[in-house]
Amino acid sequence: MARGRIAGGMGVQPRPEKTRPMRRARLAWPRNPVQIRGGPAAVTGDEAGNATVWDHPGGKGRGRLIREPEDEPIGPYGMVYGNDRPWPDAPGVFLCPYGPWEVDMEMQAAVLRGPGDLEVTRRPRPACPPGGLLVAVRACSLCATDAKMFARGHRDLVLPRILGHEVAGVVAEAGAGVTDWRPGEAVQVAPGLPCGGCRWCLRGAPNMCERMRIIGFHEDGGLAQYLAVPAQGLSQGAVNRLPAGLGFAVAALAEPLACCLNALEQVRLEPGETVAVFGAGPQGRLVAQAARLRGASRLILVEVAPARLDRARLAQAADTGADVMVDASWEDPVAAIRRETQGRGADVVLPATGAVEALTWGLAALAQRGRLCLYSGLPPEGEAWPVNLNRLHYREATLVGAYGCTSRQNALALELLGRGRIDGEALISHRLPLARAREGLELVRDRAGMKVVVEMPG
Ligand SMILES: [Zn+2]
Ligand SMILES: [Zn+2]
Repeated sequence: MARGRIAGGMGVQPRPEKTRPMRRARLAWPRNPVQIRGGPAAVTGDEAGNATVWDHPGGKGRGRLIREPEDEPIGPYGMVYGNDRPWPDAPGVFLCPYGPWEVDMEMQAAVLRGPGDLEVTRRPRPACPPGGLLVAVRACSLCATDAKMFARGHRDLVLPRILGHEVAGVVAEAGAGVTDWRPGEAVQVAPGLPCGGCRWCLRGAPNMCERMRIIGFHEDGGLAQYLAVPAQGLSQGAVNRLPAGLGFAVAALAEPLACCLNALEQVRLEPGETVAVFGAGPQGRLVAQAARLRGASRLILVEVAPARLDRARLAQAADTGADVMVDASWEDPVAAIRRETQGRGADVVLPATGAVEALTWGLAALAQRGRLCLYSGLPPEGEAWPVNLNRLHYREATLVGAYGCTSRQNALALELLGRGRIDGEALISHRLPLARAREGLELVRDRAGMKVVVEMPG
């Protein structure tokens, strides 16, 4: 820790016995711009004793300014000044009229502590990891996995945790030794932090890494103003520059799209095959678009929730390009799929819903040598799913799993969004500020919208 910096966050500190004589010199602050890690910034203060940093490459932030010359360490109880009069006791706000300055910013973050226990609160801004990046988050989209974590936890979730793994933002700081990334660059961050050295990493399946760590699962995620990307993430290709013209909210969808691309690879979709997608929510619509792009000749979208079906019908023309919509609330989807495929069934089935009946229908609707991919929104662990193994046997059908995505798939997904080959914009139903992150998770949990994106102003 740099000399003169204040450790331990923003708690109320007792005043020391002896304070330094107050420096009444007319305050040179805001003497703008000031030099702050990452570049110049403008600084202002308010009556309540808060310092606000503006026009910094890392965005806006609140915090305290700390003077750091060796000859005059300001210490944890340094003089607090504001507009040439002493500031009120303002724990955590330490200003000194002379530079050089360093700012130790706090940030807002959505922290999950337990099932249903999510709070948007202030947290210390993470330090920029050596060899990694500090990213000022601009958009973090939410998915069913976040909602699942919020409701009941997840195999890979370590609490307490700042959630969020579908992230785009701006580089605020490049860590020591990083030369090819600059503050101010717009980036998308893939959440996987594979080790790069285990047998799975070496055979091109880093999402199966034996020492995998995931942003928003094991490490703090993007539902915050700042996100630390460790060196491991940078070296394994987790960070991608945004294609020109691509907005942050749509760029954040690269990760869920990449998971769809992974599913299509695992299920070995061949051009000309028939695909049935169960669930016309955001994940179903994304995977349907991706399947079409990958050469599916006939696309059947099945939905059972009437409200969602209405949206899905609109989506049919707008983005998925589905040939057939099946309303499973009144029509037997297995019969419908057989009818649409001259009795053969679907070559590939992609359930994008946690409903057990969708899995059962999907399996029944498989063609000979058909494949069903379990990749998203599965029923809760332990919930039984009766599988007719004879169907697999006689039809030489395959059940295949897929989990997460690789950095290669993530980069491809970002490119597809950037080139408009996948319409991300049409999937976004809600844009909320970070303070409403909880509401966003509830919307996803209740399937009340399509893609929900939490946005941080620049
Ligand atoms: Zn997700
Ligand atoms: Zn590995």
